[in-house]
Amino acid sequence: MAKERKKAKIPYLSVVVPVYNEEDNIPNLCERLISSLDKLKKPYEIIFTNDGSKDRSLELLTSFHAKHSDRIRIIDFHGNYGQHMAIMAAFEFCQGEVIVTLDADLQNPPEEIGKLLVKIDEGYDYVGSYRDSRKDNAFRTYVSKLVNFVRELITDIKMSDHGCMLRAYSREVIRQIIASQEHSTFIPALAYKFAFNPTEVEVRHDERVAGVSKYNLYRLIRLNFDLITGFSLVPLQLFTMFGMVISLLSGFLVVYMLGRRILIGPEAEGVFTLFAITFFLISVVIMGIGLVGEYLGRIFQNISHRPRFVIRKIIGDK
Ligand code: UDP
Ligand code: MG
Repeated sequence: MAKERKKAKIPYLSVVVPVYNEEDNIPNLCERLISSLDKLKKPYEIIFTNDGSKDRSLELLTSFHAKHSDRIRIIDFHGNYGQHMAIMAAFEFCQGEVIVTLDADLQNPPEEIGKLLVKIDEGYDYVGSYRDSRKDNAFRTYVSKLVNFVRELITDIKMSDHGCMLRAYSREVIRQIIASQEHSTFIPALAYKFAFNPTEVEVRHDERVAGVSKYNLYRLIRLNFDLITGFSLVPLQLFTMFGMVISLLSGFLVVYMLGRRILIGPEAEGVFTLFAITFFLISVVIMGIGLVGEYLGRIFQNISHRPRFVIRKIIGDK
C-alpha cells in the first residue's frame, strides 16, 4: 500500500491550515511547518485554505507555493466562511492517509505534529489533544472551560479540550466527515462521532505572536452554539421539562389564589412580585423561541442545498 502511494506520488500526511488575515504569521508558520515536517521523513502535502482574507495572506501563501509547488496547495475561498468550513474544504481536497489540522497563528506548534503521528502509528484513528497550559486571555480560558463542562454533560462527545485544533485524523474518519455534508459544524466533535478508536495527547500551546484572534464575542457565541445545538437535543428537552415544572407550579398557585379569593376576598397586593414573575417567564419564552430558531436554522441550512462554501480558485492542484 505504502509503495503504491509512493509510486502514485500520493502523500502519507496532509496538513490542513485555515487562514484568515494572518499575513504577519505566514512567513514564520511556513518556515516552521516545512522544517518540522521534513524531520518526520514522510511524504507530505500542506493545504492552506484562504478564508476570504483581506490582507496579504493569499499573496504570501502564493509565493510560498512558488518555492515548494510539489507539496503546497492553496484553496482560495470566495468569501469568509469560517474556520471549520475552511478545514472542511481542505478535507475534500487532501490526499493523505493521515490528516493533521492546525491553526495558522502558531498557537499550535508545528513541532508537536510528530507526537500525534506516534499515536496514529499505534493504531488510533483519531488523535485529539489538550493544551498543557492555555495561552489565551482569562475570559477565553474561562468560557472554554465552561463550554467544555456543558458539552461533557449534555453530549456524548468525550474529550478534554475540544478547542485545541492540533489534531490528527485517519483517512476513514475524514471520509465520514466529508460524507456528512454538514453546514455549520464543529469538526473535532464531528470526528469524534465517527472515530472507532480515539485518543488524546498533551500538546504545547503558545501565545498568538502576531495579529489578533478572529473570534469576537459574537463569533464565539455562534461557534459554541454550533457545538451544543449541533450535537445535542438536551437544550430543547430541558426547555420542555422546565415548561412542565412551571405549569405544575402555576397550577398549584391558581388553586392557592382561588382559595384565598374565597376565604379572604379580592386582594391587590403583590403586584410587583407578579411583574417580576411575568418578566422572568417572558424572558424564558423569548429564549425558548431563540433556541427553537437555532435548530430550525440548522435544518434550513441543511435542506436549502446551497453550497457550504464557494471556491474562487485552487493553486497547485494537479
Ligand atoms: N480562521 C479562519 N476563518 C475564520 C476565523 C479563523 O480560517 O473565520 C482561522 C485563523 O486564521 C486561524 C484559526 O482559524 O488559523 C484559528 O483562529 P484564531 O487563532 O483567531 O482563534 P483562537 O485561537 O482565538 O480561538
Ligand atoms: Mg489562535
